Amino acid sequence: MKMTVEEIRRACGGKLLCGDPEAVVTSVSTDSRKIEPGALFVPIKGERTDAHAYITATFAAGAVATLTEEHTEMEDSHAWIRVPNTLSALQLIATAYRQRFSIPVVGVTGSVGKTTTKEMIALALSAEKKVMRTEGNHNSQVGLPLTMFRLEPEHEVAVVEMGMSDFGEMSRLAEIAAPNCAVITNIGISHIQQLKTQQNILGEKLHIIDRFQEDSVLFLNGDDPMLAGLRGKLRVKTRYFGMQPWCDDRAEQIAFHPNGVRFVFRTNGIAQEVDLPVLGLHNVTNALAGLAVAHFLGVDLEKAAKALKEYQPLAMRQQLHRHKGITVIDDSYNASPDALKSSLDMLENLREQDGRCIAALADMLELGALEHRAHFEVGAYAAGTGVDALVTVGTRAAAIAEGARSVKPEIPCHVCASNEEAVEVLKGLLRCGDVVLVKGSRGMHTDEIVKKLLEYL
Ligand code: ATP
Ligand code: MG
Repeated sequence: MKMTVEEIRRACGGKLLCGDPEAVVTSVSTDSRKIEPGALFVPIKGERTDAHAYITATFAAGAVATLTEEHTEMEDSHAWIRVPNTLSALQLIATAYRQRFSIPVVGVTGSVGKTTTKEMIALALSAEKKVMRTEGNHNSQVGLPLTMFRLEPEHEVAVVEMGMSDFGEMSRLAEIAAPNCAVITNIGISHIQQLKTQQNILGEKLHIIDRFQEDSVLFLNGDDPMLAGLRGKLRVKTRYFGMQPWCDDRAEQIAFHPNGVRFVFRTNGIAQEVDLPVLGLHNVTNALAGLAVAHFLGVDLEKAAKALKEYQPLAMRQQLHRHKGITVIDDSYNASPDALKSSLDMLENLREQDGRCIAALADMLELGALEHRAHFEVGAYAAGTGVDALVTVGTRAAAIAEGARSVKPEIPCHVCASNEEAVEVLKGLLRCGDVVLVKGSRGMHTDEIVKKLLEYL
């Protein structure tokens, strides 16, 4: 990345208080501990700390310029640019930087499966193209702008994750990334606390097309009822991926095997066999998005499918640990009702002869008024999938047990208050051949359960 101080000042409409306007900035950081020589430091005022306090330290670490909301006059050899709001300025600078590139930018949003889908799209594209993709989960109002600065002239396509939890956020992200290819994975109820209704969630996510041009395309999951409901109603070009027979990019002949799932990808009269080394029907959906986008952007499907065969599950997202005949699935990354249901469906596919399926489920957070009902319903759903026993962790998750018993009164349910208690229960419960799913909201740290269980096994 390369921008002069003057180009940065112009992009954010700031005032240069001091320093050389022609000085060259080669990276942008909001973290004073991760400054590279040549960096622009963007101090953001957080709830607990105000990063303006670290400006001098970033100069010592090699930063050449900083933004500031606080200073009005400065005398320094470093460049200080005064702006009304450093976060907005960061977004404006990223917008200007992105506009230097005329490559396709694929934006990925949705209630669940964004990171997995982003990774699968990037992998499928990388079969034939040089791809810039969001690192990890950097999908926020800060993470997305910082991601755009990783664009380099060598890149032929970018795949960026775009997350939102409140009104107006997707509009801003769309302004910055200006995707000309967008994917919506599904409309669930994550962040419903802020957005109130699923209709609002849908409406906000659709802002991903705000900067669409005539040849831009929106890829939608046809298996999601709310997204399927948009058929023929949008003013932009759309393509549907999914398992419905009417989908443009479809999965057919889906067959699970112990280490993954095989299916036939069908599009415009072409059929391509795909073998994914990951579990769960939802990952077929995620891979479909990857293949659909890769095909649309001109990547050879056989090569894209070959690339997907090497897909590695992300940490704590359905990572499989097999030990002494017991399978532990670490799905601790997050939990929402939709993600939990897809994981419960997957559990049944992993059942071994004579083995039982056990689900250790902790609280799902941020569900607002739907909290009790959502947990209860997930419990009822679990009982319906054939789960043999449930272990719940946390006050909210106790309703999962209630829901399960409402459908299947005899189902063994162990209601625990902490991860430690759940570990003890599982130690007593597990035997050779069993499969146990461990899942909860990130704040519940259910990876502790996995860690302790693996130490014990
Ligand atoms: P975040 O909002 O934290 O960024 P995300 O949308 O990026 O989450 P992932 O990290 O890809 O989602 O996946 C989180 C969990 O959601 C997975 O572990 C899995 O349980 C579930 N999941 C992934 N893809 C799907 C899907 N297509 N449909 C339903 N559930 C899914
Ligand atoms: Mg993510």
